[in-house]
Amino acid sequence: MTWGQATDAQLLEVLNATCVSLGIPPERGRSIAPSSGTKKSIAPFFEPNYSVRLYVDVKAWRPLGWNLPSNGVAYDACGHIWYDEGQGCLRLENHSENKIYVRLVAGTCFRAECPVCYQKWAAREAGRIEDKFKRLSRNNAEASVPGYGRPVHAVISVPEIDAFLIYNNLDILKDKIYAIAEKVGLKGYCVIFHPYANEKMHEETPEKILIDKSTGDFDLDSLRSYYSKMNKHINFWYVRPHFHIIGYAPRDYDNPENDAFNEDTITRIYNETGYVVKNLGVRDSVRNTAHYQLTHAGVKKGFQTVCWVGDLSNRNYHKMNPLPKFIPKPHTCPECQAELAPVRWDPQAEISGQVFSVDNYSSAECLDLSEPGPSPLEGMREGGYWIDPGGWRYLDRGEKNHSCLVRKPSHR
Ligand SMILES: [Zn+2]
Ligand SMILES: [Zn+2]
Repeated sequence: MTWGQATDAQLLEVLNATCVSLGIPPERGRSIAPSSGTKKSIAPFFEPNYSVRLYVDVKAWRPLGWNLPSNGVAYDACGHIWYDEGQGCLRLENHSENKIYVRLVAGTCFRAECPVCYQKWAAREAGRIEDKFKRLSRNNAEASVPGYGRPVHAVISVPEIDAFLIYNNLDILKDKIYAIAEKVGLKGYCVIFHPYANEKMHEETPEKILIDKSTGDFDLDSLRSYYSKMNKHINFWYVRPHFHIIGYAPRDYDNPENDAFNEDTITRIYNETGYVVKNLGVRDSVRNTAHYQLTHAGVKKGFQTVCWVGDLSNRNYHKMNPLPKFIPKPHTCPECQAELAPVRWDPQAEISGQVFSVDNYSSAECLDLSEPGPSPLEGMREGGYWIDPGGWRYLDRGEKNHSCLVRKPSHR
């Protein structure tokens, strides 16, 4: 059977099988709430779309008001690189190859909807999620916490009859999700909401994004290749709300009667409510799992993309005796480890230094007074470079480079 020749019924069968294997409920699941006619009137246009699985380009149309990352509008300075400034280490004497190190930094707004900056948004959010687990385990984020075990990845999928709740009753839907999470013994977790699904989308992390060891921050090249390899040409999605959960669900394997997250409970929940719970198990990397889920998370103005619930909620987290917040490490020179400092391309400064020095005053004709050339890093991508010395200097007191944090143009 090729896709082009398949009947609708065949296609639906394949899609259903795929969805079920991903923890997404098959069609005609039942709701916790009794089904009533009034619900459908909230979004009467919606009912047919779900069963028929109408694929839409979310860039052009946002079913039920939800968007995906990168579909918004960038600010002017997003991705802009100031080639004549950067973060650098000019300590020639500490470098073996007679080179200086300069890092170009692009303007970033860190908004999920920004088509330029969403990758950095996702990377930064994923790092924050990882940190919250790390502060509890006092180790890597994947390590066990006494009384809680290791973090697991679970998915709870919403049956068709409740999907309309994402339109303007997400709070009601979330309460249902949290109640179900409690039934399977999830004690503290973060939630990432996905309004849409796509049969090409896999629930597991495709690959790892390397971390820059010196700063604990993501490696830029690795981030770029991650997004270019990931199938970003998936433009069509259908409404199929589900919630990704990363968190603690303590298990009691020795006393099965006390163990909440088992197949029987999951089956009972499905039979009673139509909601499908899937346990994808402990994590190799909390950060990579979170990052991948963020890449196609629901984005909507006024809604948090990441929510913390139960013992990890903002209200309760401190009771788990976490380590203090980690202070971000500054970027350092890859060779001499000195902290990078703001630098500027300013070849004129050296020339005027010569002009005004008494020794050279009488021989001005020997000086090169031509206009300074462009920065040697003109046209380069964001990142660190080893370049020939000369023309770069540290900033003077009171001088400032452009901030890499881009904000909305001033609201005057
Ligand atoms: Zn941006
Ligand atoms: Zn250095």
